[in-house]
Amino acid sequence: MFEPLPQYPDHLALEEEILAWWDAECVFEQLRERNRGGPTFSFMDGPITANNPMGAHHCWGRTLKDVFQRYKALQGHDLRYQNGFDCQGLWVEVGVERELGLNSKREIEEYGIAEFAERCKERVAKYAEVITDQCRRLGMWMDWDNDYYTFSDTNIEYIWRFLKECHERGWLYKGHRSVEWCPRCGTSLSQHELLNSYAELTHPSLYVRFPLKGREGEALVVWTTTPWTLPANVAAAVKPDAEYGLVDGGWWAVERNPDATFTKRVRGDELVGLEYQGPFDSLPAQQEVVHRVITWDEVSLAEGTGIVHIAPGCGAEDFELSRVNDLPVLTPINEAGRFYQEYGEFEGRSTEDVEGPIVVELERRGLLVEAGSIVHRYPICWRCSTPLVFRIADDWMISADEIRQPMLDANATVQWTPDFYSKRMDDWLRNMGDWNISRRRYFGLPLPFYPCDSCGQLTVVGSLAELRERATGGLEQLQELHRPWIDEVPIRCDCGAELRRVLEVGDAWLDAGIVPFSTLGWQNADWKEHGYATGAAAGLTGADLPDHAYWERWYPADWVSEMREQIRLWFYSQCFMSVTLTGKSPYRAVLTHEKLLDENGREMHRSWGNAIDAAEALGNIGADVIRFMFCEHVPSQNLKFGYGPAGEIKRRLLTYWNSVKFFVDYANIAGFRPGAEAPGELQPLDHWLLERTEQLVAELTDAYERYWTPALIRAFDSFVDDLSNWYIRRSRRRFWNGDAVALWSLWHALERSLQVVSPVMPFLTEFLWQRLRAEDAPESVFLAPWPDVRERDEALLEEVAEVRRVVELGRQARGDAGLKLRQPLRRLVVQGAGPAQRHVDEIAEELRVKQVEFAPVEAMEIRVKPNLPLLGPKLGKELRSVRAALEAGEFEQLESGGVRVNGHELGADEVLVERRARDGWALAEDDGLTVAMTTELDDELRLEGRVYELIHRVNTMRKDAGLALTDRIKLTLPEADADLLQHADWIKEEVLATELGTDSVDEPRITKAL
Ligand SMILES: [Zn+2]
Ligand SMILES: [Zn+2]
Repeated sequence: MFEPLPQYPDHLALEEEILAWWDAECVFEQLRERNRGGPTFSFMDGPITANNPMGAHHCWGRTLKDVFQRYKALQGHDLRYQNGFDCQGLWVEVGVERELGLNSKREIEEYGIAEFAERCKERVAKYAEVITDQCRRLGMWMDWDNDYYTFSDTNIEYIWRFLKECHERGWLYKGHRSVEWCPRCGTSLSQHELLNSYAELTHPSLYVRFPLKGREGEALVVWTTTPWTLPANVAAAVKPDAEYGLVDGGWWAVERNPDATFTKRVRGDELVGLEYQGPFDSLPAQQEVVHRVITWDEVSLAEGTGIVHIAPGCGAEDFELSRVNDLPVLTPINEAGRFYQEYGEFEGRSTEDVEGPIVVELERRGLLVEAGSIVHRYPICWRCSTPLVFRIADDWMISADEIRQPMLDANATVQWTPDFYSKRMDDWLRNMGDWNISRRRYFGLPLPFYPCDSCGQLTVVGSLAELRERATGGLEQLQELHRPWIDEVPIRCDCGAELRRVLEVGDAWLDAGIVPFSTLGWQNADWKEHGYATGAAAGLTGADLPDHAYWERWYPADWVSEMREQIRLWFYSQCFMSVTLTGKSPYRAVLTHEKLLDENGREMHRSWGNAIDAAEALGNIGADVIRFMFCEHVPSQNLKFGYGPAGEIKRRLLTYWNSVKFFVDYANIAGFRPGAEAPGELQPLDHWLLERTEQLVAELTDAYERYWTPALIRAFDSFVDDLSNWYIRRSRRRFWNGDAVALWSLWHALERSLQVVSPVMPFLTEFLWQRLRAEDAPESVFLAPWPDVRERDEALLEEVAEVRRVVELGRQARGDAGLKLRQPLRRLVVQGAGPAQRHVDEIAEELRVKQVEFAPVEAMEIRVKPNLPLLGPKLGKELRSVRAALEAGEFEQLESGGVRVNGHELGADEVLVERRARDGWALAEDDGLTVAMTTELDDELRLEGRVYELIHRVNTMRKDAGLALTDRIKLTLPEADADLLQHADWIKEEVLATELGTDSVDEPRITKAL
């Protein structure tokens, strides 16, 4: 007896039930035990930031990771299953700041860096737990007690080692340069943090006069959208070969003001060297500055005035120009984006606050030509959304010059899916600037840099042991390698001087990039139990620090998978560090995916109210449906996520559910018991189903091997369609009769399909497996070995596929002609079919036609009309006669798709060709196959049509009345339907009626027969 299934699956309830069962039976542990020592499949998890609960978008990546890990495990591979948490850096800091209501670095320091670090750790611990629960609910199988945490001392030490290596190679330097700066976070951002973080912002648009010295009444006119930079102006740049003209006392590029009447015209380079009065010369900061005109080839003539105001302290290009032209560099704002003291009335104000006063001041002095506003794309901080500014800062950098080519070479060995992302990675590597690794923050990787003022040497500490050895004190309070504790440990320079660590912390991508080394025990002599659970990670995980032999076994990763944006983040930092340390790519294959949008295609944002978090999605939709949705989607396209699309998938999955339920119901009636062999001789359709099932196994195995889930879902869908709409449909009568061979064939197909689709929908498949499995089969579908792929009877598969296409086209033709499938028709003609010709009876039965012919279809009529917009001008007066000839059918069709008519050759685009059925026929065609059927009805056909309607109606009544499949009935028809009794035997058989008669009733009536 198979446990009966309810009408519909309750996804949420069955998933909870399976989760509890997996736990109780230790299924995951059993699977790991079974595969231990098998061939390895090395997957390296990109760490998820433990700073918030998961959003629905996280479920995408996590689904893909789990699907392929489950597949590899089913194939017998030994896996590590180590999950990773990203734990330090700005994300976490900004999260804690919000939680504590702190809003500046000053407030953090007042709160206390040690306390702040404790809060950061608490936050990570809290959300690591939340995320773990959500991942479990998603069905993700990981070794949850042995996660890696990037803030562990071990992880930090490995990064120190990498940094020391960079230093020894001469790649590490302190850059004095203009950088994009977040005034709220008080730190610079690196190149990889900038891309895609833009917002449409409104800024002032000012045209300002800079009066020329020694040229009474003449001024340069400049354009700026950042008025706050004007107090730091030192020069004005012109394009040397452009023409400039004087109008109303102002110099402009002629091209920017073409309608003006210029009183003088000169080339740009003739203006060079002229001096002018700066806009804010009275400020203390401006006292020594001589403002002059310089040349710059990059001056744009596409916007502004063709004269660019230069403030080297406030822009990257301006700063470069200051080096070439020996200009002073004024840095007007501090780390918090507020003006320094030397900026007089602006002191202490933000760049936004000074906009108004600057405009007022320029206006008062008659320097303002025009003031407006502009909406443009402007970079914002990707953590806190504050608009960025440029500042001059001293940042620690790793030079990318020497590593660039080796990284490109390493990337050439990687198999990317989809493959064009390989080129994206190459593009990123070719254009990457030096890596800005320092952040002026608190809870991050402490950069182990100790500069010496006495001898000028920079000491980079490469390990905790080295720190201990060099330390001159403070070790007793060093609870972990974080600020503030680490800053209390001075070290001794080789020259004898006592050194202090620089205050900066590291870019969080260093933390994630090192994990192929820190988690696998690279160059570690002895295995240390729980050796990874050090520093802030102590007590949060039981992860070991393995030895080098282990690293050899698991490095590089066979496969990694993250979002596409990780090309410039994790894929990049991992590759950078790995090529530096080993010369090799840290991964062999990558699967990337795009972004999640809401179901209307908008980005999801909490503040827009359209974000769906993981808990909400899992609690409402269920994990299997979410996983199915992610797998079906082509990963290189953004995915529209929502309850609408989820409902659609639920409806589609119902077909599969119904097939299983159909089997269970009839198997129970027949007392069927599953076994390894068919209990009798297979009929041709059974034979086909077995081959069709093998095809599914082969197609899915291939899709998994290619890391390509859309092909997997396509193949599954098509199988379910064949199973339900062909095999079951065509075998109904056998099931009613309890045919054991049909039951066995269906059982086998269901069981196999459950197995191969189980990585996608682990809950539903496990639930159904438990109900269908043979007694001697493993209790869990995940403990059953993956079916072997074997040769298939391709000819048979193609034959039936063609039959199904003929039937589909026939249904389509009926539909187009408005003919119900229940109405039998007289004649069907099929053109273009090959092996389907052997299936005349099935086609006739499926399409309810009396006669099937395989012959050229002559029921087609071709109509050609002129494409008037093109032919009108071409033919002029002759259009009329051509049109008449086309209408009369007096034309010849050409190979090209055009026609010859009245002596004209018309191209395919000059005519509109319409193919349609002649009167009295219904017709459909597709890809060389044409199907046509007669639509005319006679009395015999009409009567049979009514019988089919009646059978359908009575069977619906049976279901509504709650009758069991085997219950017999008495059927009474209205007198008006007496003519149907000509087919009494047929009707009785189809509705399981023991008696059939007529009476004075208005509607058919059924009663259960005793
Ligand atoms: Zn910020
Ligand atoms: Zn020294």
